[in-house]
Amino acid sequence: MKLKSKVALITGGGSGLGREIALAFAREGCAIGVNDIRPETAEAVAQEVRALGVDATALPCDVADSRAVMKMFAKHMGDLQALDVLVNNAGIAFVEEHVKRNIEAMIQEIMTAGRTTRSAEATKTMEDGHWRRTLAIHLDGTFYCTREALKIMEFNGWGAIINMASIAGLTGIAAAPDYSAAKAGIIGFTKSVAREVIGRGIRVNAIAPGYIDTPLLDPLPDLMKQMVVAQTPAGRLGTPAEVAATAVFLASDDSSYFVGQVLSPNGGICI
Ligand code: NAP
Repeated sequence: MKLKSKVALITGGGSGLGREIALAFAREGCAIGVNDIRPETAEAVAQEVRALGVDATALPCDVADSRAVMKMFAKHMGDLQALDVLVNNAGIAFVEEHVKRNIEAMIQEIMTAGRTTRSAEATKTMEDGHWRRTLAIHLDGTFYCTREALKIMEFNGWGAIINMASIAGLTGIAAAPDYSAAKAGIIGFTKSVAREVIGRGIRVNAIAPGYIDTPLLDPLPDLMKQMVVAQTPAGRLGTPAEVAATAVFLASDDSSYFVGQVLSPNGGICI
């Protein structure tokens, strides 16, 4: 077992990639603090983890709320008494209806004319609240959780922090300037903190997945999903298990010389 007797806290652990990472870590012997904004999903995954024979606690909280994050870490330490691995994974990808319609029209035009003169029109119509919420969950949440985790990990002299970025942060996605900015910010944050804390025995790395089959993609127009698959050399969406395997690698000593790196399981859509 690669994570035997370790303890992890995974944000957004109630669904998709976070849930799969929680179960993959548990199979490697790791106890899990399962955060999610919805208490019922955090508890459901905590129960799935316990069924695999390791300890788990549900840690419902909004990672965009710094006070709530501090309380969450206190509860995690009270319940599980240790923290070796933090996975900053919680996230949203909100696409407004008019942007979805624009994307569909663009794809239709590409399919009939081979090119498009249209635009997703996402940036000039985006409300402040939409922009701020995306940045708050992804970027602020990653910072708040990392800040708390470092206090514990520095004391122990060992730790692994894994930040969930995206290919959106590497290449940009035309219809998602907020999401792309947040994910690029997470990559910059990863590299900076990695340099800061490696001397204390803490490795910080990021995963930048391509398009993975989780509920996050549900709001995307079907045409866009078909287009994504067509543009992906592997010819399919990724599976949560393929990302979870990357997280197990980055959490374990197998990746002991990986510092500030961005690993991108993406089927070749971004090379
Ligand atoms: P998902 O299935 O929607 O899971 C995300 C989880 O995070 C959900 O349970 C969500 O709750 C929770 N969450 C949202 N806001 C939160 C908050 N403020 N505090 C705590 N939890 C919160 O999506 P996923 O695909 O697994 O995404 C996980 C991460 O991977 C995200 O950071 C995402 O940006 C990233 N990612 C995903 C893909 C992909 O193609 N799926 C690609 C690249 C990167 P609700 O369901 O209630 O919102």
